[in-house]
Amino acid sequence: LVVLKSVNKHFGALHVLQDIELTISRGEVVVVIGPSGSGKSTLCRTINRLETIDSGTITIDGKPLPPEGKELARLRADVGMVFQSFNLFAHKTVLENVTLGQVKVRRTDKQAAEERARALLDRVGVGAQADKYPAQLSGGQQQRVAIARALAMEPKVMLFDEPTSALDPEMINEVLEVMQQLARDGMTMIVVTHEMGFARSAANRVVFMADGRIIEQAAPDQFFSNPRSDRAKDFLSKIL
Ligand code: ATP
Ligand code: MG
Repeated sequence: LVVLKSVNKHFGALHVLQDIELTISRGEVVVVIGPSGSGKSTLCRTINRLETIDSGTITIDGKPLPPEGKELARLRADVGMVFQSFNLFAHKTVLENVTLGQVKVRRTDKQAAEERARALLDRVGVGAQADKYPAQLSGGQQQRVAIARALAMEPKVMLFDEPTSALDPEMINEVLEVMQQLARDGMTMIVVTHEMGFARSAANRVVFMADGRIIEQAAPDQFFSNPRSDRAKDFLSKIL
């Protein structure tokens, strides 16, 4: 579903993504881990073209990333993204946040969009907050609204970049549970996270990055019990 071939990217002299080869199948949940600065966020951002790449190809469902315009807006809708900071529209209600993109990009009529939004807000457990503004919600609630907003676009794949790192500890689980459920429902997911419990229980595959490279990838059991590279061993010894 998502295929990266020989992807390279520089920020000036920094070679932030080096010959990235990554194939993610439909329904697969891939957790990306690695030290700070290894290029995890940049990798996510190239997949929905928030960042351009210098060479290589990225295809989603067989189609290359369009450079700009309406095509790009549609592609971004196919690739739902949830960031560390919740990025909701502060001056729109929760319901409007989840309705807006459907009407603008997907051309859904307003009533159908609102019905869908309410159903999704219920699904992530914040249905009662529909008419509030983001600032009136807890971090965990805001992040669940952000997930509902991305899902409202009927994405083919969901990208999560450290979705729980900005949350107070007691709110982390409510967001992880929504993500677990999404994984069980068969959503294709790429998740950058430090939550190794989530990686163990929800991931089909762990991808370990360091210095802009994919150093190794394996099933979670195998990766956590028997990492092959010294970099991964070193990383795991620091976080586990
Ligand atoms: P973290 O775990 O801290 O989130 P990360 O693995 O997500 O790290 P990236 O954010 O992808 O890492 O950054 C990789 C490298 O690229 C870092 O050295 C960072 O400073 C650099 N970088 C990221 N964005 C830019 C940018 N817009 N311009 C220049 N350098 C950047
Ligand atoms: Mg990052």
